[in-house]
Amino acid sequence: MPTQLHDIAPGRGHPAYHGGVSKVIVPGSSPTVPVVGLAVIVSAATAWLAVLLGAGLDAVLADRPPAAAWYLQVALALLAAGTGLVLIPVVIQRASGRMQAGVRARLLEHYLAIGPLALARGGHGQRVNTAMDAVDRMVRYRAGFTGPALAAVITPFIVLGFVAVFLDASAAAILGILLLLVPVIVLGFQRLFRSSSGAYRRAQGTLAAVFMDALRNLGMLKLNNASGWMGTKVAAAAQNVRVQVMKLLARNQLVLLVIDATFALLLLSTAALLAWWKVDTGVLGVGGGLSLLALSFLMLAPVNYVGSFFYIGMTGRTAQERITQVLTEEPHPGMLTALKVDLRATGLHLESVAAGYEDGADAISGINLSFPAGSRTAVIGASGSGKSTLLRLLSGQLETSAGLVHDTRQALGTATLRWNTAVVEQNSTLFAMSLRENLALADPQATDQEMIGLLHRVGLGDWFEALEQGLDLPLGEGGARLSGGQGQRLAIARAVLADRPVLLLDEPTSALDVHTEAQVLQLLGTVGQGRITITVTHRLSMLADYDRVVVMEAGKVIQAGRTQAVLAQDGYLARAMAAYTRRSERIGGHR
Ligand code: ADP
Ligand code: MG
Repeated sequence: MPTQLHDIAPGRGHPAYHGGVSKVIVPGSSPTVPVVGLAVIVSAATAWLAVLLGAGLDAVLADRPPAAAWYLQVALALLAAGTGLVLIPVVIQRASGRMQAGVRARLLEHYLAIGPLALARGGHGQRVNTAMDAVDRMVRYRAGFTGPALAAVITPFIVLGFVAVFLDASAAAILGILLLLVPVIVLGFQRLFRSSSGAYRRAQGTLAAVFMDALRNLGMLKLNNASGWMGTKVAAAAQNVRVQVMKLLARNQLVLLVIDATFALLLLSTAALLAWWKVDTGVLGVGGGLSLLALSFLMLAPVNYVGSFFYIGMTGRTAQERITQVLTEEPHPGMLTALKVDLRATGLHLESVAAGYEDGADAISGINLSFPAGSRTAVIGASGSGKSTLLRLLSGQLETSAGLVHDTRQALGTATLRWNTAVVEQNSTLFAMSLRENLALADPQATDQEMIGLLHRVGLGDWFEALEQGLDLPLGEGGARLSGGQGQRLAIARAVLADRPVLLLDEPTSALDVHTEAQVLQLLGTVGQGRITITVTHRLSMLADYDRVVVMEAGKVIQAGRTQAVLAQDGYLARAMAAYTRRSERIGGHR
């Protein structure tokens, strides 16, 4: 399937594509500073609480019930810790949403910029995987991991401060020496995780590619009874991912567990010994000793936290590297900048043009055609003769492999063609968005009134007026909630709304009933005024509506010119017309 790019091409009033993507830094600001700030507040408040409770206990033991100030402080500490704990996930959630949208938009922009051929070279499955899964992982890492991990490293030292100030300086010094092990552990882990997460990422990419292939070729697989075989392939790829994940987890989990346990044991037993010693020597009361123990638990929690976040951190980093790598691919010059041309005045011309799909031979070649300003051309020919391919080329979805598309002065690249054409495809592309958003793709500035007016003009008026949700109606995946005829009319409405100099229509009325067809053809006739319209059609009866005709056969143009002139030639069109007339006369005769 060709990459359907035109629908996302910027429309009237759309900010132009802003050009080069060299040396990319992955976009989106991560909420590291607020998250670290909040986490620091939470740990300080919790440590304070531990100290307060110990002091309270000591006071009670000494028969001095705590004063009102003590209760106030406890309440304050609880409030601070609680607020922080509630806010951290909110901050992370918000930043994640923003980052995801930002990075995906950037990738999409980039996919447009490198052009359909480069896009296909990378493999569509891999592209989708990068935009979905890799972005997810990267965002989870940047928004949800970096801040908490940093906070986890800082927290123990804050707690240590509380021990030093409120309990005992020498105990703090001894625990501090143990804490210096934390950065060593963190660095060691990064080494360890990097190698195995690479293998995992490759397996994941293969799965996505195989799966996408299966999806795209579902019809073909069904026809050839090959779905079982493909299923096995997908299952094998998925199995490989599972194996890699398990390896990654098992290895890391084990090491984590051992280090965690060792560290916990060491820290807690040291703290217990210290507490016992300090209480025994009278430096601390029983409450103070318990505070010391509680604080050492606090120092431990962040280490566990770092451990459980490592999986996210490492897969997130590889995802980020992958996204950065994708974003540094060279943009295709013709995809980047649309030339300033006026096709309404100059017409559109093809010289020895050839084009094909990702796999090899040219589907059309040796095409010499002129579409003068304001001309209305019908393209006819047997199925598979290259009509749709010609329209895809003219709409900038395919690159030429030879020859020139030009406006008599300059060659037109895919970007220029995308900006200057509006297409109605044979199978029109509708997106799983609302009716309004599907139309706004063509013109982000269009008002509801314009949209509704247009829906009426393409014969969707009655349908629309009966809708409860109006323009907010969700269309479902690929416009699944519309009938073929409705989808096609909507695609026509979108093409009209796009208001481009060239209107390309691939059998635009094939799914319509006779009444609607007449209505739509009339609309197309009106909006076609002053534009170049190129229509693939099988309706020989309508040929009189077109001033020019192009006949295609096996990827070549075999006849082209003014309709009357071509009809007068002894050739495909004259023969087809004669056969058609005989047929309709026969039908007429039987009545
Ligand atoms: P038409 O629209 O006249 O029926 P097409 O332009 O769709 O013909 O097809 C012309 C040729 O290009 C055919 O041989 C067809 O197999 C091939 N082709 C069409 N679409 C694709 C595609 N997406 N990938 C590879 N080959 C294609
Ligand atoms: Mg076709």
